[in-house]
Amino acid sequence: MTRMLQNFSKDSWVKGEGSGRPVVSAIDGSTVAMAGSEGLNFAAMLDHARSVGGAALKSMTFHQRAAMLKVLAKGLMERKEELYELSAQTGATRADGWIDIEGGAGTLFTMSSKGRKELPDGVVIVDGSHEPIGKTGSFIGQHVYTSLQGAALHINAFNFPVWGMLEKLGPTLLAGMPAIVKPATATAQVCEHAVRIMLESGALPAGALQLIVGSVGDMFDHLTCQDVVSFTGSADTARLLQSHPVITSQSVRFIAECDSINCTVLGPDVSEQDPEFDLFVKEVFREMTVKAGQKCTAIRRIFVPSAMVDSVEEALRARLNKVVTGDPADETVRMGALVSRSQREDVREKARSLASECDLVCGEIDEVKAIGDEQVGAFQSPLLFRNDRPWQAGLVHDIEAFGPVATLMPYEGVSDAIGLANRGKGSLVMSVFTHDPNVAQQFVLQCAAFHGRMVFVDRDCAAESTGHGSPLPTLIHGGPGRAGGGEEMGGIRGVKHYMQRSALQGSPRLLSAATGQFLAGAPQLTGEIHPFRKRYAELDIGYTLHTGSRTITLEDVEHFAEFTGDNFYAHMDEVAAAASPIFGGRVAHGYLILSFAAGLFVDPDPGPVLANFGLESLRFIKPVKPGESIKVSLTVKSKSPRTPDMGEVRWAVAVTNGEDELVASYELLTMNAV
Ligand code: NAP
Repeated sequence: MTRMLQNFSKDSWVKGEGSGRPVVSAIDGSTVAMAGSEGLNFAAMLDHARSVGGAALKSMTFHQRAAMLKVLAKGLMERKEELYELSAQTGATRADGWIDIEGGAGTLFTMSSKGRKELPDGVVIVDGSHEPIGKTGSFIGQHVYTSLQGAALHINAFNFPVWGMLEKLGPTLLAGMPAIVKPATATAQVCEHAVRIMLESGALPAGALQLIVGSVGDMFDHLTCQDVVSFTGSADTARLLQSHPVITSQSVRFIAECDSINCTVLGPDVSEQDPEFDLFVKEVFREMTVKAGQKCTAIRRIFVPSAMVDSVEEALRARLNKVVTGDPADETVRMGALVSRSQREDVREKARSLASECDLVCGEIDEVKAIGDEQVGAFQSPLLFRNDRPWQAGLVHDIEAFGPVATLMPYEGVSDAIGLANRGKGSLVMSVFTHDPNVAQQFVLQCAAFHGRMVFVDRDCAAESTGHGSPLPTLIHGGPGRAGGGEEMGGIRGVKHYMQRSALQGSPRLLSAATGQFLAGAPQLTGEIHPFRKRYAELDIGYTLHTGSRTITLEDVEHFAEFTGDNFYAHMDEVAAAASPIFGGRVAHGYLILSFAAGLFVDPDPGPVLANFGLESLRFIKPVKPGESIKVSLTVKSKSPRTPDMGEVRWAVAVTNGEDELVASYELLTMNAV
């Protein structure tokens, strides 16, 4: 009997009622599973996510959530072969599966690492510096991010059932939000298994993750302003879902990643002899054939200088004609199948539309030579079109055939290429193969607004380039216009899509307590013990050392100049310094002030402070003249654990003169023993 995929609802695996929809093998057309969600109580799933999963995740700090992501990623890597096996049914080669499975786990690893390094061990993200508002500093503003109180509904496309889930799940869980995942039915068996592996890792708290294999039923009716819908798929489905009355009336956050007519450009500076030419041809070929072209980021339009069209066409045909297509189980196969024969029919139909205004110069729309059973497999020959009049063409800038399909077109000069590139009306990614900085600059200035990501490839970066079509967890993925207008990933930026930014206003004392961070003007705690004698765990936020003062003499300035070699006129030339509109006479070196400040606050003996490893946001605010004195206040601003034995302490340092005026401020970073 055909296996029925299961939903994971309210912490239990349940089959949908009824027979569900078939999930079909891309290779032999057999039904590998049935998927359905009929009978689920969608409103109750949302409630469970919010009240059980949300509460559990919010009781964890960012660092604890980051550690959880690492366990999930490890669990997936340990059992990756189970996923590769299922992935092959979807037509994916081992290399395609690697992007999905190991690339997906890699995304979780990266988010875990970023969460630990870049977020506090708390639950609030403080956004930027405080804004002084009142004259005396008793009323300030501070932006913060807090976790949304609802659930994230992830609706994913079929092409990357693992990566597509994890690129959203990592940021969502890190943000403290529970997720309900709805994979595309065509590849739901792979996603279902990945969810099982993650749940079996034991790292997820109850309610943090639920799965729907089938329709989302009436779930949209129960969404609120605290929920997020993150959708990946076609623009038509995005439009349909986005126009749901609850999405508009409740202002439900809706992130859309849709189809995109991505392009690549061969720079006008590149000749056939240049390395960029080969790099370009290789990349177009790769983008057309990896995952059989079923990548939202794949190259659909290829723009080359008009004089180069014939040579690019020839080079591409030479490569495409050699591609071995078929069942990925055969070792010689380089390009697998489309996900299903119905998807192939969709691709062929769109290819026929393209053929109405373009010449097909390589491949055949309805014929394919494949290793495997051509009568039942969803194999497709790669199709290269050519259109020599791209400004007269319309469909080629508008139709996404979601398979191994791209169109070659000429351009006349950089501005022509820019205009053509932007005719895609907003894309996920555009690449330019050029070695000329001026060309790169023109494309950035006039194209970046239309494309979520721009990749410049030349001989200098080729060896390390991750290529046109690979979204990275550290960089944003998404694009304007027809690409959906959404944005995902981008490191911690992606986490903030699942949090609310609010402006807090109030006294420094209250806002410091609320944010877990010392803000200027908040009470400074003092005590008998020098802060450098306190271990990480013993240091309270706001604990402050007020030092004695030290006078800076002219001899100090001259000694410092000679010792360091810094003889800048402002410190050493009385006449020139007097003529300066800023100094009006000789002043102490800024670095001398820093050094003397350290001399004032450092406690010299070995102790819990293991190292000073940085200094940020340094500002020299007022010059210090020889004969003036300085003193320092050193305050614990925030803390963040780094290893079981060590934690980072961020100190707010204020250097003032004899009149109590601020002369320098900065943040000092030390690593302290726990
Ligand atoms: P799709 O047909 O739009 O489906 C996308 C998802 O929406 C699937 O999970 C689908 O579920 C679900 N869905 C469809 N109708 C729905 C409805 N009425 N209510 C709730 N959910 C609904 O797209 P696809 O064919 O899976 O994916 C291919 C497209 O996705 C391509 O156009 C590609 O460019 C785009 N894509 C974009 C990105 C990106 O990051 N921008 C990434 C990958 C793919 P069912 O499968 O169960 O119908």
